[in-house]
Amino acid sequence: MIVAIDGPAAAGKGTLARRIALALGFAHLDTGALYRAVGLRVLRDGMDPSDATAAHRAALALNPADLSGPALREERTAKAASVVSAHPAVRAALLDFQRNFGKNPPGGVPGAVIEGRDIGTVVCPNADIKLFIDADLSIRARRRHEELRSNGISVELAEVRAEMAARDDRDRNRADSPLRPAPDAHLLDTTDLDIDGVFAAAMKAIGGVAK
Ligand code: C5P
Repeated sequence: MIVAIDGPAAAGKGTLARRIALALGFAHLDTGALYRAVGLRVLRDGMDPSDATAAHRAALALNPADLSGPALREERTAKAASVVSAHPAVRAALLDFQRNFGKNPPGGVPGAVIEGRDIGTVVCPNADIKLFIDADLSIRARRRHEELRSNGISVELAEVRAEMAARDDRDRNRADSPLRPAPDAHLLDTTDLDIDGVFAAAMKAIGGVAK
């Protein structure tokens, strides 16, 4: 069984995906980490994320060690990720890994929860359940700002909001695999919902399929 979760930055996908995976005993894949790792590799190589050849080379060279570490969560990495992710060659290089994760989840568990921007539309169009998680930009910016501050990173709320709006815009308007809900996705708006409310709504949607 595959649960696909898509949505813009800081809508609550990560927390929800981990919680669903834990509840169902499924494996969890955060595909944003793959694009972040490519972006970070390009920055560390001293290259420009808008350089398609450099970004493609970084995607092909990706290894498991690239997928952890605090630098992955930095805002400059998020920005680089959203630039490298617009190159079709980068997306193509990461596709098989994501699809295989869904087909053969690690550990022999019976399913996978995969989160990103194009999981329900491109990576797993046949996913058993598709959730599209959204929230107002001002709420998402405030959540990300609090998260950054609690990690000791001091940054203005207005700057977080502007960066997030620019990133969402790139993700929604790129030609290859733009961020958009699949026609058969369940839409969940988390503007006025806490994590328990989002989780309950998601499990209700999943329960309808599992029956
Ligand atoms: O989810 P996260 O904020 O970590 O994703 C970082 C960036 O990676 C996104 O802004 C987006 O540009 C890119 N991404 C993508 N497709 C995915 C997951 C992430 O293009 N499936």
